[in-house]
Amino acid sequence: MSKKTTTLKRSWAEPFKIKMVELLKMTTPEQRLKCIAAAGYNTFLLKSEDVYIDLLTDSGTNAMSDRQWAGLMLGDEAYAGSRNFYHLENAVKKFYGYKYLVPTHQGRGAENILSKCMIKPGDIIPGNMYFTTTRLHQELAGGIFQDVIIDEAHDSFNLHPFKGNVDLNKVEALIKQHGAAKIPYICVATTVNMAGGQPIALENLKALRKLTEKHGIKIILDMTRVAENAYFIQQREKGYANKSIAAIVKEICSLTDGATMSAKKDALVNIGGFLAVNDKKVFEEARNMGRPRSPLSRELCFCR
Ligand SMILES: *Cc1c(COP(=O)(O)O)cnc(C)c1O
Repeated sequence: MSKKTTTLKRSWAEPFKIKMVELLKMTTPEQRLKCIAAAGYNTFLLKSEDVYIDLLTDSGTNAMSDRQWAGLMLGDEAYAGSRNFYHLENAVKKFYGYKYLVPTHQGRGAENILSKCMIKPGDIIPGNMYFTTTRLHQELAGGIFQDVIIDEAHDSFNLHPFKGNVDLNKVEALIKQHGAAKIPYICVATTVNMAGGQPIALENLKALRKLTEKHGIKIILDMTRVAENAYFIQQREKGYANKSIAAIVKEICSLTDGATMSAKKDALVNIGGFLAVNDKKVFEEARNMGRPRSPLSRELCFCR
């Protein structure tokens, strides 16, 4: 058992009771074999009603608490100026420290807006591996993704504690090859999905910050699983054992210029996300893209 859970004396018992159940269809192994063959062994093509234990994703699959559902009912449905926007904006400022917030329907909405605002055709976007929707939006905006994760991440047998780390030599080589002006930002993911959920160390992020600052390159965080990454830092990185997850999360964010968030994972909601930035100009451009009445608004906004 980890150090932290021992000192907290946490019981194995869950501190909640279940209020609602949803019936599932029970299937036999024969039925399941037939279904997976019919789907061409592609889990994305299975019908969800044929799936008893769903391990496809953690996205939006959490049960929400009574308070979260109650919050939905207390929602201000105003066409503009909804109090829930200010509530969310305050929470983002308080816990993540970013100045400006554009709410989106989920992570990819934020990625679309960010990519359109910050990427020019032909730009290079380095990242510690790619996430499908992130890379797609970078490419749709004319950017070229370049993988700059450490080599250890590509070796599933390697026991490096921070396989999400960025290889600074790879970043320097890209700067040398293309010039810093061609690199608007580097996209840093916390607990790198494609590497199997591997974390990045704060020491590495600090070094990356130093390097990119020197060249005027921004860092944009894919903070979808930032809480898990903070936990790994608390457990594994020297000097962080006694820091709270909240303090570590805030420190991670403080080393970046903005973030895209899919709130459907660590943030335990069934839909939602946002773009948060410190640069007012980027914010204003981003907000205009998400404004109500724009042809994109239904796709990009919380507003219905
Ligand atoms: C899910 C996810 C996204 C995209 O978010 P959606 O809410 O699914 O649109 C982006 N990055 C990472 C790392 C994710 O896991």
